[in-house]
Amino acid sequence: MTCSPVINSCVVPTASARVRLRPIDSRDIVIRDGLLADRQRVNREVTLLHGAEELERAGTLDNLRIAAGSMSAERRGMVFSDSDVYKWLEALAWEIGREPSPELEAHAREVIDLVAAAQRPDGYLNSWCQVVDPAWRWTDLKEGHELYCAGHLIQAGVAFARAVGDESLLTVACRFAGLIDEVIGDDARLGTDGHPEIELALVELYRLTGETRYLALADTLTGRRGSGLFAGGCFDLSYYQDAERVRDAHSISGHAVRALYLAAGVTDLYAETGDEALLASMLRQWDELASTKTYLTGGIGSRHDGEAIGDPYELPPDRAYCETCAAIASIMWNWRLLLVTGESRFADLLERTLYNGFLSGLSLDGGSFFYTNPLQSRNGKRRHSWHPVACCPPNIMRLLASLHHYLATTSDRGVQLHQYATSTIRAVVPVAGTVELAVETGYPWSGSVAVEVVACGDTEWTLSLRVPGWARGALVDGRPVAPGYTELTRRWRPGDRVDLELDVSPRLTAPNPRIDAVRGCLALERGPVVYCFEAGDLPAGAHLADVAVEIDAAPADSGPLPALGGLPGVSVAGVVHDLDGWRQIEYVDVRELPRNGTAASVRLLAVPYFAWANRGDGGMRVWLPRSG
Ligand SMILES: [Zn+2]
Repeated sequence: MTCSPVINSCVVPTASARVRLRPIDSRDIVIRDGLLADRQRVNREVTLLHGAEELERAGTLDNLRIAAGSMSAERRGMVFSDSDVYKWLEALAWEIGREPSPELEAHAREVIDLVAAAQRPDGYLNSWCQVVDPAWRWTDLKEGHELYCAGHLIQAGVAFARAVGDESLLTVACRFAGLIDEVIGDDARLGTDGHPEIELALVELYRLTGETRYLALADTLTGRRGSGLFAGGCFDLSYYQDAERVRDAHSISGHAVRALYLAAGVTDLYAETGDEALLASMLRQWDELASTKTYLTGGIGSRHDGEAIGDPYELPPDRAYCETCAAIASIMWNWRLLLVTGESRFADLLERTLYNGFLSGLSLDGGSFFYTNPLQSRNGKRRHSWHPVACCPPNIMRLLASLHHYLATTSDRGVQLHQYATSTIRAVVPVAGTVELAVETGYPWSGSVAVEVVACGDTEWTLSLRVPGWARGALVDGRPVAPGYTELTRRWRPGDRVDLELDVSPRLTAPNPRIDAVRGCLALERGPVVYCFEAGDLPAGAHLADVAVEIDAAPADSGPLPALGGLPGVSVAGVVHDLDGWRQIEYVDVRELPRNGTAASVRLLAVPYFAWANRGDGGMRVWLPRSG
């Protein structure tokens, strides 16, 4: 039996898994203050309850009531809408586990009972099939999202078992997973899922229960990809991750969320099976994705057509798709690769995605959502209180409720800090017993991170601190350190303290010149946070399309922004070109270009990208042309 130790976290590799780092029980990590604490608080107080109302209003819960026979009405919503309920339930599980809440527990109890009531006697559970067309069962794995919904059910069941100790939803999930294994696992003609997600869920179910059939099913479903199962129809094979064998793939393409969920599941599969071809494929694909197909915000997916990852360097800011779910799936994949390899580049990309392409998906007040997260919008864009395809909102909720899972890990030798927040972290280190750390920081706004050892054993162990790839001139206790993990091996004593100093002063960033869409442009970053320019902050009469940034003038902090809850603003020298004369002319002979156009010098205010579109309408740009 290789069942995982009783650890409450979203990813818990078994004792024999090929991982260098192990998650810490999330009950032993508390984010006490700062930006991430605020986002968790808003999720708890606003977003999760908002989700309950919207699932009711959209008929998503009614669909399960109709399936359960307790209500008679027409089914509403998308074929995959059950998954919205499961993701929201998973979020409730992590949140109740983080801090009990009678209100959230009552919501969870009611909906878990509803889900159980909707399950068929043979274990089947899908409201579309049960309400709309019982003959549809297992007939459309390509488009039907049947296994995708099952995957989210399994993840929610695992979360309740781990975080709350309630196995009622897990029982439902296991009955359905058993049926899927019996029917699809044994019949290759049925193929695999058109929308990956169940793979990572099955591996986690195996990790929790020790039932090897779930791991074998994840392997079977993965192995069937790349054989042209999904030929024909509107989309090509890559859309469904069916163009290449997973083990052979050199490139990552197709529907971004599908590709990234699959990658997360395949990485889990490697960790539990040791199949080196899977890891090699994952690392090849990650290299290509991170270096040529990822936006500055960590967002992924540059094509609206097929919600797809584009070609290398195809990263248009205005047409960026960057679905919030793709950012979440990328965080999930990077976390798994970090556990497997222990390499900081995965924690770096996780951080970039977390503070930018992910957080932008939720309004500051916690009540509205972006589905796509472009890096430029000419006329502004509004978050919506819910979406007809509501995959993103509950996905945001479950990640926010589990954010603390991603802060730190343990290994045989010590504790590793990957993301910085004012927090308390307790971990069991084999060589040193229980270690307790208190982290104090204003991160990401301040680069000062103080780590105090509150308790530890009497033997030598290693504290590892991640120095982000963007950090230049970082110091640990006054000593220069390079990006990557700084390892401090000592016989620690309670009261010992380490100070990490990261320079988060604003900096201008240039894009790779191969990215045609933003060649000659600059962006502003401050620590891990990408900034953007909103039309409403420009001098009166100026237009975002006419503004450029001075490359020589260092950007500077401009103080807290009252309208954005005190988030720090940044300003940079720029110019506003007078392009009125061009408005009648689309194209001119280069010899007739105006030589001495007027340009007024201005100070341009920038705000954190994740906080854009919180002050009314108006355009936005992350990349601005370089002046001159
Ligand atoms: Zn989504």
